[in-house]
Amino acid sequence: METVVSGIRPTGMLHIGNYFGAVRNFIQLQESYPCFFFIADFHSLTTHPTPGDLHGSVKRVLAEYLAAGLDPEKSTLYLQSDVPEVTELYLYLNMNAYLGELERVSSFKEKARSQPDNINAGLLTYPVLMAADILLHKGTRVPVGKDQEQHLEMARTFGNRFNRLYQAEIFPEPQAFSETKELVKVPGLTGAGKMSKSAGEADCIYLADPADSLNKKIMRAKTDSGPAAPGEQPSQAVQNLFDLMHLVCSSEVCAHYRETYNLGTIRYGDMKKQLAEDMERFIAPWREKISDILADDALLARTAALGAEKARASAAATLQEVRSLIGFRKFY
Ligand code: AMP
Repeated sequence: METVVSGIRPTGMLHIGNYFGAVRNFIQLQESYPCFFFIADFHSLTTHPTPGDLHGSVKRVLAEYLAAGLDPEKSTLYLQSDVPEVTELYLYLNMNAYLGELERVSSFKEKARSQPDNINAGLLTYPVLMAADILLHKGTRVPVGKDQEQHLEMARTFGNRFNRLYQAEIFPEPQAFSETKELVKVPGLTGAGKMSKSAGEADCIYLADPADSLNKKIMRAKTDSGPAAPGEQPSQAVQNLFDLMHLVCSSEVCAHYRETYNLGTIRYGDMKKQLAEDMERFIAPWREKISDILADDALLARTAALGAEKARASAAATLQEVRSLIGFRKFY
């Protein structure tokens, strides 16, 4: 049986990378499969948020999940911290996760480089917690962006290792999933890598961005001085703008700018203006929905309570099997 599991760290507002990499697939999958979608608030502790920031970000992601179309009746929509069983499974998996393999994970190496004064053990064992999130519900399909491919590989390693060690077929192999077949990588606006909050506010287009700041961010996005010769490949910054256009502009519009680029007559100002207009049309419906849901505390409370109940039932069933395989027996 297919089971879908995926989560997003609450680090403020959701950006369109989160939407195209993950949430868009959640909405489609909830129609066909049992789905567990969570807010990864334990994961977010690696960066030491204040209590106020943590709660505010969790509330935002919950509201944004609902605004994007997640249905708490169809899928299980929950806060990771409402399901303490995940920390128990994390502990068991940690016993068979090795320092060498964890140190080799690219996201760890990248974080260790970018925040050398906060290389904590939580960061090192991040892929183990992620594996626990998935294996907790015996997940088989994990809708994520391209940046999570290596973490998924590790989740398979840890699940298989546990199966082998205890000679059981308890955990199926989780596979990364995207409806577009290829895993998605949405580039940021500052010309570097994937769209990411850690690259700064100017890098991200948020689902709730007000129209004026959206416009400013796109108009300020990096470009270059144009193709030096016909047929020359665009710079990374300009390719990123083309990639963003493909997400929200019509194919005619994309083809038009590609052609003017090839002819050397492209005006980046016009291209960005077009992208800003189409992006505004794309995110505008969410802006209002998100602020309505954020003001509806009763809806948020109902959603979180229902999700916690359903997620804990699934988690408790897995943990009972896991404990028994490991050899914990009750004396009373
Ligand atoms: P995170 O914000 O790192 O918790 O990521 C939550 C989800 O969004 C994961 O499935 C990521 O793969 C996805 N995601 C985050 N940033 C991007 C991006 N720039 N492009 C595609 N997917 C992304």
